[in-house]
Amino acid sequence: MSSSNTTHSECPPKCRCGAGEMKLFTSRTQLNPHRKFWKCPNWKDENGCGAFLWKDEVAHWQLAEANSMTCERENLVAVVEKLESALCVFIEVEKIRNAYLRKIYHAIIVACCIVILVFLFSKA
Ligand SMILES: [Zn+2]
Repeated sequence: MSSSNTTHSECPPKCRCGAGEMKLFTSRTQLNPHRKFWKCPNWKDENGCGAFLWKDEVAHWQLAEANSMTCERENLVAVVEKLESALCVFIEVEKIRNAYLRKIYHAIIVACCIVILVFLFSKA
């Protein structure tokens, strides 16, 4: 019953040195008796990084990480929604501009035709 709260951290964390998944040990010190901790898989190696994490603290860290990722994703969704609405406004402005330009082109063509006709009639 008391151990059910640690299921979240069952998959071993990866060591920051790139040596792979960390190994689980149980502390035998007087200060932290039976407290579980993760250690770098190269812990026996003299040149090993010697990384060390308490298992209960890793669980908190992973939970915090998951929460911050959810928060980040929500922020990204909000940014995308803002961009989409800005793009809609841009497209609307572009449509109005195109319609306006088309009207101007028509007016210019009509004016040219009138000038040509006036020129031809005045010659004749
Ligand atoms: Zn390591």
